[in-house]
Amino acid sequence: MTHMVLEVKESLEERCNQILRNMEASLTARDRVGIQDFVLLDPHTSESAFLDNLRKRFHENLIYTYIGTLLVSVNPYKELDIYSKKQMDTYMGVNFFELPPHIYALADNVFRTMQSEFNNHFILISGESGAGKTEASKKILQFYAVSCPSTKLLNNVRDRLLLSNPVLEAFGNAKTLKNDNSSRFGKYMDIQFDHQGGAVGGHILSYLLEKSRVVHQNHGERNFHIFYQLVEGGEEDLLRWLGLERNCKNYRYLVQGDCAKVSSINDKSDWKTVRKALSVIEFSESDTEHLFGIIASVLHLGNIKFDVDARGYATLNNNQEMHWLLGIPNQVLQQGLTHRKIEAKTEEVFSPFSVDHAVYARDALAKAIYGRTFNWLVNKINESLANKDSSRKTVIGLLDIYGFEVFSVNSFEQFCINYCNEKLQQLFIELTLKSEQEEYEMEGIEWEPVPYFNNKIICDLVEEKFRGIISLLDEECLRPGEATDITFLEKMEEKIGGHPHFVTHKLGDQKTRKTLDRGDFRLLHYAGEVTYCVVGFLDKNNDLLYRNGKEMMELSVSLMSCFHVIIYLPMTFKVVTQFKSSLVGLTEILMSKEPWYVRCIKPNEAKQPGHFNDVLVRHQVKYLGLMEHLRVRRAGFAYRRKYEIFLQRYKPLCPDTWPNWKGTAAEGVQLLIKHLGYKPDEYKMGRTKIFIRHPRTLFATEDAFQV
Ligand code: ATP
Ligand code: MG
Repeated sequence: MTHMVLEVKESLEERCNQILRNMEASLTARDRVGIQDFVLLDPHTSESAFLDNLRKRFHENLIYTYIGTLLVSVNPYKELDIYSKKQMDTYMGVNFFELPPHIYALADNVFRTMQSEFNNHFILISGESGAGKTEASKKILQFYAVSCPSTKLLNNVRDRLLLSNPVLEAFGNAKTLKNDNSSRFGKYMDIQFDHQGGAVGGHILSYLLEKSRVVHQNHGERNFHIFYQLVEGGEEDLLRWLGLERNCKNYRYLVQGDCAKVSSINDKSDWKTVRKALSVIEFSESDTEHLFGIIASVLHLGNIKFDVDARGYATLNNNQEMHWLLGIPNQVLQQGLTHRKIEAKTEEVFSPFSVDHAVYARDALAKAIYGRTFNWLVNKINESLANKDSSRKTVIGLLDIYGFEVFSVNSFEQFCINYCNEKLQQLFIELTLKSEQEEYEMEGIEWEPVPYFNNKIICDLVEEKFRGIISLLDEECLRPGEATDITFLEKMEEKIGGHPHFVTHKLGDQKTRKTLDRGDFRLLHYAGEVTYCVVGFLDKNNDLLYRNGKEMMELSVSLMSCFHVIIYLPMTFKVVTQFKSSLVGLTEILMSKEPWYVRCIKPNEAKQPGHFNDVLVRHQVKYLGLMEHLRVRRAGFAYRRKYEIFLQRYKPLCPDTWPNWKGTAAEGVQLLIKHLGYKPDEYKMGRTKIFIRHPRTLFATEDAFQV
């Protein structure tokens, strides 16, 4: 036994040395390729040195760098030859710090931790619009799909997991000014693994789709990809059947941004991918027919024109073919689009619309149909990913949402998206900077606090009960006829006027006034200032669909055969309040799992390879809190384990603790690490846990089991 333990000890030292040698080798190469883990930079790293390292690596096509176990990724804006099957194999089962940083290394580390500790994890991928979040999440999913143990049955699940992506992207992504494939919905996906580590199922939660895009796009932007894919790539027969022409210019909902064709997007081949994907994720022929019937109907709906009758009311222009529209009886459709149904006590009254009103009702119907279709799609995908076996699974969750965005004009949609990013930044702070430092304090570990900006103040400004922006917006939405976007603005000025992160034209100093219009309010977000134009806030928050709109949907043959249930449940809550509570739910889901982070950085605004804009990157490094994270990481401890758990796992490595240790767990751990030869600066003993400074120490200890 003593002999064996001696061997363990020697091999442990050898292992530790080898890892150190690897790290030193990477240090000698640092002049050319920078340093692969920021923790290894000089202790007083300045922001400039941080930036130099990122830039150096970026120009060598080394887009990944660690801060401990956090992965920083800079968008290369070009295809790199680092995502092959060979690369996946290289990273599989290898210790985190032994190979150059890679998203596969992170994915593998998460997977192996889940396997050994049999617990749940999530990977939070963040960064602004166009920084590479969606690409990162796809790479992670591909890694699991290719490298996890498989059987024929599991191959099915893996194909579905992979192919759910192109489908959801087709219906939920669009070209914006920031990103040609911008996510316009938030996505959280659980990948479920069985005991052997096989991917056996999945589940997707989607968050607030930007429905307004269906009827309106700003200049230089597009509608959701699927519309262009259908028109460009749809088979002749299908288009004929749907009454569509192969020309996007013919559809009002597709041309407002004036950029139906985008050089980086191939709608025709994307269409083929989506078609194939739909069949793999078990969409029947009739499901698919109905689905495209609905998409085509939205396009036709957008082309409906109204004339003014002699009394000034809207009538349907007579030259329009109406038969294709969702299988809604013509009469119902005509009346539904031009009248509002009001139910008085004993009778129904139809009050005619003005043309503006009719256009509004038409667009509201199009948005409602698309939004409902998207939810149905997510449900269908979930049915196909569902795992029928009820034995306990562990999961890895992937969170990929719409990134922080600032346009020249920002509206309700940007407000919701940026609020969501504030919440995730808050979660990151809670889980890394705040709780980490609080834990050291609780455990009695000596600690020099690292100051950081806590964005809770902005989250509160948005979501506080009674006086937060969301409450004030909802309040105004409950005063139909009286409240307007401007009264909402005035209410904010009255209630939160003094807040340091909120300003309007009226409240600002002279300089600020010059940059703000009367109908604007500005929020100082964690990621920068955003000026929101208040126009449309009430309307979009109400998301009103007239009663006849709902009835039309219920009478639609296509919609009903797809959805099978009553389409439209009355909305008791307003849009942003629903969104807020869905984010609370998401936070709860995440808090119950172990976190890992990918922080994505956008190197330039022009979507160009090889361009590293210092000002832009520095700004992101700042607001993503990377310097603070580095300081906490460097001064702190990469790993911590309760004494009981640590002892339980490693006691076979020491004759004093093996097989039965009778003393306290802390004393046992003390003996164990003495035996393993941990150096005094490598660890600290807290009240209930051991803290280990570098991952390499733990890796070497793990490796000792292999001898
Ligand atoms: P949004 O918040 O708008 O959804 P995002 O952070 O999800 O943005 P992505 O869609 O992932 O951004 O990336 C934008 C584009 O950048 C991609 O379409 C791709 O062209 C390029 N890109 C991102 N990551 C990589 C990568 N690792 N390799 C090559 N190109 C990449
Ligand atoms: Mg995205």
